[in-house]
Amino acid sequence: MIDSHCHLSGTVERCGFSTLEELKASAERWPEWTVDCGCEVAEIDRTVALCEAHPESMRFAVGIHPLEAESYCDEVEATLVRLMSHPLCVAWGEIGLDLHGDGVPDLALQIEVCARQFAKAAELGKTITVHAREADEHMLLLLKSLPTGQKVHLHCYTGGAEFLREVLALPLDLCVGFTGAITFPKNEALRENVEIVPLERILVETDSPYLAPVPHRGRPCHPGYVFDTARVVAERKGVSFEEIDRATSATARRLYGF
Ligand SMILES: [Zn+2]
Repeated sequence: MIDSHCHLSGTVERCGFSTLEELKASAERWPEWTVDCGCEVAEIDRTVALCEAHPESMRFAVGIHPLEAESYCDEVEATLVRLMSHPLCVAWGEIGLDLHGDGVPDLALQIEVCARQFAKAAELGKTITVHAREADEHMLLLLKSLPTGQKVHLHCYTGGAEFLREVLALPLDLCVGFTGAITFPKNEALRENVEIVPLERILVETDSPYLAPVPHRGRPCHPGYVFDTARVVAERKGVSFEEIDRATSATARRLYGF
Protein backbone atom coordinates (compact mmCIF):
# COMPACT_ATOMS: atom_id res chain seq x y z
CA MET A 1 0.00 0.00 0.00
CA ILE A 2 1.19 3.52 -0.77
CA ASP A 3 -0.04 6.70 0.90
CA SER A 4 0.46 8.90 -2.14
CA HIS A 5 0.10 12.22 -0.29
CA CYS A 6 0.63 13.22 3.32
CA HIS A 7 2.32 15.86 5.46
CA LEU A 8 4.45 13.82 7.80
CA SER A 9 6.32 16.39 9.91
CA GLY A 10 3.01 18.00 10.83
CA THR A 11 1.45 14.57 11.37
CA VAL A 12 4.09 13.41 13.87
CA GLU A 13 3.57 16.61 15.85
CA ARG A 14 -0.24 16.53 15.66
CA CYS A 15 -0.29 12.92 16.85
CA GLY A 16 1.71 13.97 19.92
CA PHE A 17 5.04 12.30 19.07
CA SER A 18 8.50 13.69 18.55
CA THR A 19 9.73 11.17 15.97
CA LEU A 20 8.28 9.29 13.04
CA GLU A 21 9.52 6.02 14.58
CA GLU A 22 7.32 6.62 17.65
CA LEU A 23 4.29 7.35 15.49
CA LYS A 24 4.87 4.24 13.37
CA ALA A 25 5.28 2.09 16.48
CA SER A 26 1.93 3.35 17.80
CA ALA A 27 0.06 2.59 14.56
CA GLU A 28 -1.73 -0.68 13.89
CA ARG A 29 -0.64 -0.66 10.24
CA TRP A 30 1.64 1.44 8.08
CA PRO A 31 1.90 1.63 4.29
CA GLU A 32 5.01 0.41 2.56
CA TRP A 33 5.63 3.84 1.05
CA THR A 34 4.56 7.41 1.76
CA VAL A 35 4.92 10.47 -0.48
CA ASP A 36 5.47 13.37 1.89
CA CYS A 37 4.58 16.87 0.81
CA GLY A 38 6.24 20.11 1.97
CA CYS A 39 4.28 23.06 0.66
CA GLU A 40 5.18 26.01 2.90
CA VAL A 41 8.55 27.76 2.80
CA ALA A 42 9.20 26.99 6.48
CA GLU A 43 8.35 23.31 6.02
CA ILE A 44 10.51 22.42 3.02
CA ASP A 45 13.80 21.71 4.86
CA ARG A 46 12.02 19.46 7.39
CA THR A 47 10.31 17.50 4.62
CA VAL A 48 13.60 16.88 2.81
CA ALA A 49 15.42 15.92 6.03
CA LEU A 50 12.71 13.46 7.13
CA CYS A 51 12.73 11.78 3.73
CA GLU A 52 16.53 11.59 3.68
CA ALA A 53 16.33 9.74 7.01
CA HIS A 54 13.87 7.18 5.54
CA PRO A 55 14.83 6.59 1.90
CA GLU A 56 13.64 2.97 2.12
CA SER A 57 10.00 4.02 2.57
CA MET A 58 9.62 7.69 1.67
CA ARG A 59 9.74 10.04 -1.29
CA PHE A 60 8.90 13.74 -1.23
CA ALA A 61 7.19 16.52 -3.18
CA VAL A 62 7.79 20.22 -2.63
CA GLY A 63 6.06 23.32 -3.94
CA ILE A 64 4.22 26.37 -2.69
CA HIS A 65 0.57 25.85 -1.71
CA PRO A 66 -1.95 28.34 -3.16
CA LEU A 67 -2.79 29.61 0.34
CA GLU A 68 0.92 30.49 0.66
CA ALA A 69 1.06 32.25 -2.72
CA GLU A 70 2.29 35.49 -1.16
CA SER A 71 5.54 33.80 -0.11
CA TYR A 72 6.47 32.82 -3.68
CA CYS A 73 9.44 34.70 -5.09
CA ASP A 74 12.50 34.13 -7.31
CA GLU A 75 14.56 32.85 -4.39
CA VAL A 76 11.95 30.28 -3.36
CA GLU A 77 11.59 29.22 -6.98
CA ALA A 78 15.35 28.72 -7.24
CA THR A 79 15.27 26.50 -4.12
CA LEU A 80 12.44 24.41 -5.60
CA VAL A 81 14.20 24.08 -8.95
CA ARG A 82 17.35 22.90 -7.14
CA LEU A 83 15.37 20.36 -5.08
CA MET A 84 13.75 18.87 -8.20
CA SER A 85 17.06 17.14 -8.97
CA HIS A 86 17.27 15.65 -5.44
CA PRO A 87 17.24 11.83 -5.86
CA LEU A 88 14.26 11.41 -3.47
CA CYS A 89 12.14 14.23 -4.95
CA VAL A 90 9.29 12.82 -7.04
CA ALA A 91 7.09 15.85 -7.71
CA TRP A 92 6.46 19.58 -7.62
CA GLY A 93 3.51 20.18 -5.32
CA GLU A 94 1.09 20.61 -3.88
CA ILE A 95 0.32 23.62 -6.00
CA GLY A 96 -2.86 25.02 -7.49
CA LEU A 97 -5.78 27.22 -6.57
CA ASP A 98 -7.93 27.52 -3.46
CA LEU A 99 -10.92 29.87 -3.31
CA HIS A 100 -12.54 28.30 -0.27
CA GLY A 101 -13.67 30.77 2.39
CA ASP A 102 -12.58 34.29 3.19
CA GLY A 103 -9.04 35.50 3.48
CA VAL A 104 -7.58 33.41 0.67
CA PRO A 105 -4.83 35.10 -1.37
CA ASP A 106 -5.93 37.21 -4.31
CA LEU A 107 -7.06 35.04 -7.26
CA ALA A 108 -4.81 36.79 -9.78
CA LEU A 109 -1.80 36.17 -7.56
CA GLN A 110 -2.77 32.51 -7.04
CA ILE A 111 -3.09 32.04 -10.80
CA GLU A 112 0.27 33.70 -11.45
CA VAL A 113 2.07 31.59 -8.82
CA CYS A 114 0.40 28.38 -10.00
CA ALA A 115 1.20 29.11 -13.66
CA ARG A 116 4.86 29.78 -12.84
CA GLN A 117 5.17 26.53 -10.91
CA PHE A 118 3.30 24.52 -13.58
CA ALA A 119 5.63 25.88 -16.25
CA LYS A 120 8.81 25.13 -14.28
CA ALA A 121 7.69 21.62 -13.35
CA ALA A 122 6.73 20.86 -16.95
CA GLU A 123 10.04 22.24 -18.22
CA LEU A 124 11.90 19.97 -15.77
CA GLY A 125 9.74 16.95 -16.66
CA LYS A 126 8.50 16.64 -13.08
CA THR A 127 5.15 15.22 -11.95
CA ILE A 128 2.81 17.89 -10.54
CA THR A 129 0.67 17.42 -7.41
CA VAL A 130 -2.39 19.65 -7.81
CA HIS A 131 -4.51 21.17 -5.05
CA ALA A 132 -7.76 22.52 -6.53
CA ARG A 133 -10.56 23.79 -4.34
CA GLU A 134 -13.59 25.72 -5.56
CA ALA A 135 -11.77 27.12 -8.57
CA ASP A 136 -12.86 24.73 -11.35
CA GLU A 137 -13.00 27.08 -14.28
CA HIS A 138 -9.60 28.70 -13.59
CA MET A 139 -7.97 25.36 -12.82
CA LEU A 140 -9.25 23.87 -16.06
CA LEU A 141 -7.51 26.67 -18.01
CA LEU A 142 -4.26 26.11 -16.13
CA LEU A 143 -4.39 22.34 -16.70
CA LYS A 144 -5.04 22.98 -20.40
CA SER A 145 -1.80 24.98 -20.54
CA LEU A 146 0.25 21.89 -19.61
CA PRO A 147 2.05 19.89 -22.28
CA THR A 148 0.42 16.70 -23.60
CA GLY A 149 1.23 13.72 -21.41
CA GLN A 150 2.19 15.80 -18.37
CA LYS A 151 1.97 13.67 -15.23
CA VAL A 152 -0.51 15.12 -12.71
CA HIS A 153 -1.80 13.90 -9.35
CA LEU A 154 -5.09 15.73 -8.74
CA HIS A 155 -4.87 15.34 -5.01
CA CYS A 156 -7.67 15.01 -2.43
CA TYR A 157 -10.46 15.23 -4.96
CA THR A 158 -13.58 16.61 -3.31
CA GLY A 159 -15.12 18.44 -6.27
CA GLY A 160 -18.00 17.63 -8.59
CA ALA A 161 -18.50 14.93 -11.20
CA GLU A 162 -18.61 17.31 -14.15
CA PHE A 163 -15.17 18.86 -13.52
CA LEU A 164 -13.81 15.38 -12.89
CA ARG A 165 -15.02 14.15 -16.30
CA GLU A 166 -13.56 17.25 -17.96
CA VAL A 167 -10.09 16.85 -16.46
CA LEU A 168 -10.00 13.10 -17.11
CA ALA A 169 -10.61 13.88 -20.80
CA LEU A 170 -7.62 16.25 -21.07
CA PRO A 171 -4.58 14.94 -22.96
CA LEU A 172 -2.64 14.59 -19.69
CA ASP A 173 -1.39 11.61 -17.68
CA LEU A 174 -3.70 12.67 -14.85
CA CYS A 175 -4.54 10.48 -11.85
CA VAL A 176 -7.01 11.29 -9.09
CA GLY A 177 -6.32 10.98 -5.37
CA PHE A 178 -9.05 10.09 -2.89
CA THR A 179 -8.72 10.71 0.85
CA GLY A 180 -10.64 9.82 4.00
CA ALA A 181 -13.28 12.35 2.89
CA ILE A 182 -14.82 9.59 0.74
CA THR A 183 -15.56 7.55 3.87
CA PHE A 184 -17.69 10.22 5.58
CA PRO A 185 -21.38 9.17 5.63
CA LYS A 186 -22.62 12.46 4.12
CA ASN A 187 -20.20 12.31 1.18
CA GLU A 188 -22.11 9.96 -1.10
CA ALA A 189 -21.32 12.26 -4.05
CA LEU A 190 -17.59 11.75 -3.48
CA ARG A 191 -18.05 7.98 -3.47
CA GLU A 192 -19.84 8.34 -6.80
CA ASN A 193 -16.74 10.16 -8.10
CA VAL A 194 -14.73 7.01 -7.38
CA GLU A 195 -16.92 5.17 -9.89
CA ILE A 196 -16.14 7.75 -12.60
CA VAL A 197 -12.35 7.37 -12.44
CA PRO A 198 -10.87 4.32 -14.20
CA LEU A 199 -9.22 1.94 -11.72
CA GLU A 200 -5.72 2.48 -13.11
CA ARG A 201 -6.03 6.27 -12.62
CA ILE A 202 -6.92 6.14 -8.91
CA LEU A 203 -4.55 6.97 -6.06
CA VAL A 204 -5.29 6.65 -2.36
CA GLU A 205 -3.90 9.15 0.09
CA THR A 206 -4.44 10.38 3.63
CA ASP A 207 -3.43 14.06 3.34
CA SER A 208 -2.56 13.50 7.00
CA PRO A 209 -2.79 15.07 9.54
CA TYR A 210 -6.16 16.10 8.05
CA LEU A 211 -9.28 14.12 7.09
CA ALA A 212 -9.01 10.96 9.21
CA PRO A 213 -11.32 8.36 7.62
CA VAL A 214 -14.14 6.50 9.31
CA PRO A 215 -13.73 4.87 11.89
CA HIS A 216 -10.94 7.20 13.09
CA ARG A 217 -12.74 10.54 12.75
CA GLY A 218 -11.97 13.10 15.42
CA ARG A 219 -8.36 11.91 15.72
CA PRO A 220 -5.42 13.35 13.86
CA CYS A 221 -4.95 11.40 10.65
CA HIS A 222 -1.77 9.43 9.83
CA PRO A 223 -0.67 7.24 6.88
CA GLY A 224 -1.72 4.05 8.69
CA TYR A 225 -5.32 5.05 8.01
CA VAL A 226 -4.89 4.87 4.22
CA PHE A 227 -6.13 1.26 4.35
CA ASP A 228 -9.58 2.45 5.47
CA THR A 229 -9.91 4.75 2.46
CA ALA A 230 -8.67 1.99 0.14
CA ARG A 231 -11.37 -0.33 1.50
CA VAL A 232 -14.11 2.13 0.47
CA VAL A 233 -12.54 2.54 -2.97
CA ALA A 234 -12.56 -1.26 -3.35
CA GLU A 235 -16.26 -1.43 -2.40
CA ARG A 236 -17.14 1.27 -4.92
CA LYS A 237 -15.12 -0.31 -7.70
CA GLY A 238 -16.55 -3.74 -6.88
CA VAL A 239 -13.09 -5.30 -6.66
CA SER A 240 -11.13 -6.91 -3.84
CA PHE A 241 -9.04 -4.95 -1.37
CA GLU A 242 -5.95 -6.73 -2.73
CA GLU A 243 -6.76 -5.52 -6.24
CA ILE A 244 -7.07 -1.90 -5.05
CA ASP A 245 -3.80 -2.23 -3.17
CA ARG A 246 -2.08 -3.61 -6.27
CA ALA A 247 -3.59 -1.07 -8.70
CA THR A 248 -3.11 2.07 -6.60
CA SER A 249 0.44 1.09 -5.64
CA ALA A 250 1.35 0.48 -9.29
CA THR A 251 -0.21 3.83 -10.28
CA ALA A 252 1.64 5.74 -7.55
CA ARG A 253 4.94 4.16 -8.52
CA ARG A 254 4.37 4.86 -12.21
CA LEU A 255 3.21 8.46 -11.74
CA TYR A 256 5.92 9.32 -9.23
CA GLY A 257 8.63 7.19 -10.84
CA PHE A 258 9.96 5.13 -7.99
ZN1 LIG B 1 -1.88 18.07 1.26
